[in-house]
Amino acid sequence: MPNLKNPSPPADGYRGRFAPSPTGPLHAGSLVAALGSWLDARQNQGKWLIRIEDLDTPRCIPGADQEILRQLLACGLSWDGELTWQSKHQDRYKKALKRLNELQTIYPCTCSRQSIAGALEARGVVTPRNQEMVYPGSCRPQQIPLYEDENIFKVEAAWRLALPPDLSIHFEDLALGKQSQNLNQEVGDFVLRRRDGIFTYQLAVVVDDAEQGITHIVRGADLLNNTARQIHLQSILGYPIPSYLHLPLVLDAHGEKLSKQTLANAIHTENAQQALQELRKAAKHLGLKDLPDGKDTSIAEWLLAATQAWNRKITSS
Ligand code: GLU
Ligand code: ZN
Repeated sequence: MPNLKNPSPPADGYRGRFAPSPTGPLHAGSLVAALGSWLDARQNQGKWLIRIEDLDTPRCIPGADQEILRQLLACGLSWDGELTWQSKHQDRYKKALKRLNELQTIYPCTCSRQSIAGALEARGVVTPRNQEMVYPGSCRPQQIPLYEDENIFKVEAAWRLALPPDLSIHFEDLALGKQSQNLNQEVGDFVLRRRDGIFTYQLAVVVDDAEQGITHIVRGADLLNNTARQIHLQSILGYPIPSYLHLPLVLDAHGEKLSKQTLANAIHTENAQQALQELRKAAKHLGLKDLPDGKDTSIAEWLLAATQAWNRKITSS
């Protein structure tokens, strides 16, 4: 992992978070995100909050949230404050969507994946495999009107955010350095509320990070590509922009991202020895050096040493 830059801690205190989706137990990759965000919070004498991102109900597995919490505790990764579940925050998301309507920046879309693919094909746009289609704006009105609030939640349509023309977002990632993304060219007007009524990750994560006063987001590099969208939403909603640090991804033997859906990838935390071995692997992946091998160390002692190693890594760059 590249060297990290040390941001000055915010005056009103560091607040970090880990935001797992309960689609399965923790695996090596999600443990890296949990450990990295925990160490960064502890190193900054900050708070580390947990938010269960359970909005995409068809993908959630009952009981996976409790399993994740058990695994975190087995690894000594204790959290601050109350646990939260996104499924309990519908009112917040509704309010944010209404606000965006007032700003006349959202519009309904009834396109299917197929019709979007067709519209792109007609324009000669080829979407590389593994990449999301860039929405061509088929349903976007010339002028975005003000919609009736009640209608937003009734119509059988997805709601998309209308991007201003030629919008490039630039930000500094504390691990990866300068980043930029042209949202029009790389994403297009994106969905905030799905046709089935489910609020999307992009909207929910931004609303909750702001509501919870999160100042530092430390998460896996698989989410890097979402950051520009989130920064744009934060700026139009008038929220503070947190700092971002994306951690290296853990890949499987075929070079693919680990999936929570495959139980084979779950980590083992049934006893302290196993938990410590999983933590050591995660720390190695984070590039932490000179850590105790764990034979005669308790998890608490090992985590203290890891926090110091994280500190050395940050201050040496
Ligand atoms: N819920 C997301 C995931 O598990 C993480 C969201 C985030 O950290 O922004 O991939
Ligand atoms: Zn559409």
